[in-house]
Amino acid sequence: MAASFRLGGAASSLRYWSRLQRPAAAGLSAVCSRSMASKTPVGFIGLGNMGNPMAKNLMKHGYPLVIYDVFPEACKEFQQKGEQVVSSPADVAEKADRIITMLPTSLNAIEVYSGANGILKNVKKGSLLIDSSTIDPAVSKELAKEVEKMGAVFMDAPVSGGVGAARSGNLTFMVGGVQEEFAAAQELLGCMGSNVLYCGAVGTGQAAKICNNMLLAISMIGTAEAMNLGIRLGLDPKLLAKILNMSSGRCWSSDTYNPVPGVMDGVPSANNYQGGFGTTLMAKDLGLAQDSATNTKTPILLGSLAHQVYRVMCAKGYSKKDFSSVFQFLREEETL
Ligand code: NAD
Repeated sequence: MAASFRLGGAASSLRYWSRLQRPAAAGLSAVCSRSMASKTPVGFIGLGNMGNPMAKNLMKHGYPLVIYDVFPEACKEFQQKGEQVVSSPADVAEKADRIITMLPTSLNAIEVYSGANGILKNVKKGSLLIDSSTIDPAVSKELAKEVEKMGAVFMDAPVSGGVGAARSGNLTFMVGGVQEEFAAAQELLGCMGSNVLYCGAVGTGQAAKICNNMLLAISMIGTAEAMNLGIRLGLDPKLLAKILNMSSGRCWSSDTYNPVPGVMDGVPSANNYQGGFGTTLMAKDLGLAQDSATNTKTPILLGSLAHQVYRVMCAKGYSKKDFSSVFQFLREEETL
């Protein structure tokens, strides 16, 4: 894989353009027939916490699905609703020319696209492949090159908003890829999200997502530290939250997702940190920010520290809890 890293984003866009300039190219006719056949089956791979409600929103908009998940139980519900379940990503690619993937990590995405029975084995020319997983931007770029070699199109479109937003169809999609294909991606993504934003070349969707989550982790740790200190100084947590939220310390972690039990209803801290966005996923996203910062020689002092905090939390039994459980983690460090 490493060898093809040499071709930059601009170069691959140029190659794509030169293909589009040739009207007789097989890729062009396939692109046209794909975008015109709007209610043809859509492939969906990865029906987990996020993929399940996202796929259901596509169904609500009238798209028949061809689905695959490595965990067969995840497909049962869809099979019962009459959707087509197949036995590999290659089978999905044989039956659908628009495919959405929603997988946990970069390694899972590589397996699903480039593995022995991956999408690339059977992908049709002109297919549109949209990866909504949060993965390393460098991997997205590499996958895009592999997909392009097969005459198809790859876009990264990670999401912001948790399971609730996935259910209500209010996700925000950050999309990277060839701009001429954005409208085709938007047609599908608009069924699952209320904001679909074009960010630039392949990998820039992931870049936006990683920056947002690094800031979120830092602000959540900051909110938890401030709340913990205030409580130990004798302040009532609800009053302290109210003061922060009318002062310059206010942020999403303090006013919408407060990490202290009893301050807000309907957030993970009110439910023993169950549901929400897992500490493991936050540690993974901070690892991606760390790798990207190393690759670009960018100082992320607080981002690196936040990464270590979430890694230690995973090692200390918080991996299955929501990431706001950093407040509980700090509370338990009585002897520091
Ligand atoms: P999840 O673990 O609940 O679901 C992932 C699904 O992918 C599972 O059903 C799993 O069986 C399947 N899978 C794994 N490897 C596979 C393979 N090789 N082939 C086919 N299927 C495979 O994860 P999730 O919470 O749905 O998150 C998916 C992605 O979305 C992650 O990258 C995550 O960082 C990102 N994300 C999650 C949230 C959230 O709140 N959960 C919010 C925003 C972004």
